[in-house]
This record gives sequence, structure tokens and C-alpha cells, in this order.
Amino acid sequence: MEKNNTFENFYIRAILDADIIAETVVPGCHILKPYGYLIWERIRTIIDKDLTKLGYQKAYFPMLIPHSLFSRQKEFYNSFSKEAIFAERAGTTKLAEKYVIRPTSEPVIIPSVKGWIRNEKDLPLKIVQWCNIIRWEVLKTPFPLIRSNEFLWHECYSFHANKKECDNATKTIYLLYRNFMVNYLAIPVFTGLKPDRRKFPAAEYTFALEAIVKNCRSVQAATSHSLGTNYSKPFDLKFNIKGKKNNPVYVSCAGLTTRLIGIIAMVHNDEKGIILPPKIAPYEIAVIGRTNIKLKNTFRCCSGKNKDYWIVHGVPIVIDGKKLTRRDTLEVIELEKDPKKQLIEILKDITSNLAKRAKEFKKSHTFEVVDYSRLCDIIGKQKGFCLSAWCGSVDCISRIKKDSNGSLRIINPINKKMSCIVCKKKGRYLGLFGQSY
Ligand SMILES: [Zn+2]
Repeated sequence: MEKNNTFENFYIRAILDADIIAETVVPGCHILKPYGYLIWERIRTIIDKDLTKLGYQKAYFPMLIPHSLFSRQKEFYNSFSKEAIFAERAGTTKLAEKYVIRPTSEPVIIPSVKGWIRNEKDLPLKIVQWCNIIRWEVLKTPFPLIRSNEFLWHECYSFHANKKECDNATKTIYLLYRNFMVNYLAIPVFTGLKPDRRKFPAAEYTFALEAIVKNCRSVQAATSHSLGTNYSKPFDLKFNIKGKKNNPVYVSCAGLTTRLIGIIAMVHNDEKGIILPPKIAPYEIAVIGRTNIKLKNTFRCCSGKNKDYWIVHGVPIVIDGKKLTRRDTLEVIELEKDPKKQLIEILKDITSNLAKRAKEFKKSHTFEVVDYSRLCDIIGKQKGFCLSAWCGSVDCISRIKKDSNGSLRIINPINKKMSCIVCKKKGRYLGLFGQSY
């Protein structure tokens, strides 16, 4: 527990010192400061480029969802009504209908596109919305960036004529997220499906990416869901093909939030604070004092302040006179006469070094376990994660929760004969177990 508190305090200190967030009087919320917002903009720019290539178009939908729509899909309502904020009045005037501030936009986006889809030619339709959402934490304690009552995100929706296309789209976004996490953020992830009780309400299935942070807890980084026709039916979203009218539309959705900034800070850090992976750092290079080198056309640069300031802000390279400091190793290196090539190489090397460190941490804290008491010891004492067989029974998960405070994060197909870590019956899935945020 002490290790946990120490790390959490360190993390909060680090993101405050780096000017990523600031405290506010609003419970469970934080201000994303300009430097933190610049990181979000980098994330957004890179992801948007990939989404545009896949045919996603940006759009914006109302943040207030009429209660009649919000309650239309039963499982959705049961899940999200617990943490949604309801609005009933404008000043002293009672509204004609109760509204819900979006915790996610399915009940407003899915019925909204009804008029856009008539026949097969209108499909697929791909929409992305960048916005804020509110999910008021009532069960867990809010934690900056990782578990906030309000956060920024994007939500992607794609609409398809058949299951196959919908499955492909769900997978494509999942792979896009994975590529982004691994190659841009230098963060290795656990990937797989969410067990049924943790998937998105009424989804056919949910792909999830989970990162492991330094106190050996996992954080869900992004998810991609196939909703099948489970939403188009209650929302009456259908299309016509020759000879067959009123076919339900297949829908997939996915999301990624400002939580990602928290994950970066929790994965890439040292005793001085955060270390930003070069590709998403607002500034790749900070220059102190005067320099004759022309960097601005090649790199994202900033100047002024002092070395310690930029180190604390996680800037990958700090140039001071004729020397540079690498943020990942704090190594001081002589600057070459024409340093452009040298700097490009070092930035590349920082990315691969951060990825290597994070990969090694993940590897050395993931254990294949067949003995139940060992699983309880590893998870209960936050020593890492366990890959173990699971029979599919909820009782076995509840037992793990009770004995070790761990949960089943992700499941994957099992490819050899194994028995469930808890009940010793036939293992149906290979599960990843651990503590999480
Ligand atoms: Zn079992």
C-alpha cells in the first residue's frame, strides 16, 4: 500500500510541476493547462490524420441527450444512468423533457444519422466527434487524468450494411490505437477482449488496450466495440437494399481520452518527473540562451527559462550552449557543428529507449501462473500481473477480487489444455488478472 501511495503522490506532483494540470474547485475535475492541452493537440493531430485516411469525417452533436433517447437502449441506460448528470431546468423554467449530459453519445448520434442513411450506397458512414463528456464517479475516488468526472475524448462511430464490415471496422480502430500507443507513445499494451460483464453495454464484444504503470496497476487506455444491431434496433436505424427493405444497420464505436496523458506520465518518468515521448511532446527541443543553430524548420522548439524547468516538463532534448541533455538518460552530449542529423538520431533513440524500458517493465511484471496462492500473492501485493486460465465463471472472478483485490482485465483464446486458476475446471480463456484503476 505504501508503495502505491508514494507512487500516486509522485505522479500527481509530477503532472502539477510539468504544468499539465491544475487543481480546480470542481470536484473530481482538473484544469488541462496550456502545456497539457498542447500534448492533447499532438495526440489529436496524429490520430485525426489516421482517421481521415480511413474515411472518418468530423462532426459535432448536442451534449444534452433527451431522457427518452437516453433510456431507449435498456442495458445502456442501466449502465450509464448511474454516473450521468441530469438537467431539468433552465433557470426557474422546468424543461419540457429531462436531459442528460452525455457520458457518451450513442443515444444522440445513432438516431441522428437516421435521415442520412437510406440505402446501401449511404454505407459505410464514418463519423468522429471530439468533445468533452461527464461521467460522475460515484463508486471510485477520482484520480487526476486517470479517473476524472469530466474529460476530453474522441468517439468514433461507423455504420455498416453487414456484420463482416462492422467487425473489420471495429478491428481496424483497435489496431490504429495499438499502433499509436506502441509507436508514438512508446507504451506497450496488453490487448484482447473484455470479459462479458466488462464490455460496453449491449456490445457484441469490446476490444481493449491496457497499459501497465509503475505501481503495477493497469489502466485501460482505449476501447473499440462492435454494437452489432443491438443499438440500431431500438433506435430504428435501418437501410434498404434491392428486394429487401428495413435491414438493421451494424454499428461500431470506439473511444480514446485525455486519460492517455496520465498514462504517459505514469509510464515514462524518473525521479525528476515526466519524460515525454518525442513524437507527442509539444516541444521536441528546448533551447536555453543564445544559439546560432536553425532548428525551427525541422523541430518543434521552444526557448527561454532554464534547464531544470524543461527537464521537469519532460522535453526530450535540452540544448544549453554547445551541449545537449537527453531527457531519458540525463546524459550530457557535445553538440555537433551541424547538429540536425545528430538531433534527429537522438530523438529516434529516445523513443526506442523509452519503449525498451517500458517493454522490459511489462515483461518483468507479467507472470504465467497456475498456482492460485501465487496469483493472490502477486496481485494482492501489487507485484505485477498474472496470465492464467479462466473457466468463464463469474464466481471465480469474484473469488479473485475478494482474495487479492484483482480483476480480470482482458481475455484471449487459450491454445493449450489448462485448468481454471481458481476452480480447476476446464480453462476456456487465457485471462490477464491484476489490480487496475
Ligand atoms: Zn473457474
